[in-house]
Amino acid sequence: MKLILLGAPGSGKGTQAEFISRELSIPTISTGAIFREEMQKGTKIGLKVKEYIDAGMLVPDETVLEVIRERLAREDCKNGYILDGFPRTIHQAEALDRITDIDYVISLEVPDADIEKRLTGRRVCSKCGKTYHIKYDDTARSGICNECGGALTVREDDKPETVRARLDVYHKQSEPLKDYYRNKGKLKSVEGTGPVDEIRKLILEALSV
Ligand SMILES: [Zn+2]
Repeated sequence: MKLILLGAPGSGKGTQAEFISRELSIPTISTGAIFREEMQKGTKIGLKVKEYIDAGMLVPDETVLEVIRERLAREDCKNGYILDGFPRTIHQAEALDRITDIDYVISLEVPDADIEKRLTGRRVCSKCGKTYHIKYDDTARSGICNECGGALTVREDDKPETVRARLDVYHKQSEPLKDYYRNKGKLKSVEGTGPVDEIRKLILEALSV
């Protein structure tokens, strides 16, 4: 099964991608991971990608597509895959349609207010990196890591204004994509709030597997 997974930052998309990957025995393909791999291996395309990244520029669509096309042609993709973080634009979605035929697009729907609560409550230990959530995890001493005694801090990404900005970007990007796939009858919206197992069940139901 060839899938695209859409979900806001903090929607639990990563966890669900892992689950679907295991359940259907298909790999998760993320452009970030392929870029890192190609750069590490020092391939021609990896060097090209590195130039853009080092210059603080977005990797152009034709390069991203080249990388994706090559990745999807590998043996482990023969039964399908989950695309995570791609496509991000209609232009990319149209280009993707020319190289493969997506079966479904799963959109994990989590209200912004829930995501804001989830992310802005996160704390990370400045010493050992262990993460906590102010609502679900108790620390013996307030603001102090249970493991190592380090001070708990809020990551830049988890600050309320940053979270809101990231959600805005996500909605601006994903709404047109959802319309695009909805018009093709491929969009499956799944309620992404509630217990993880429940969400898993909903995803499998949506895919009717
Ligand atoms: Zn710690």
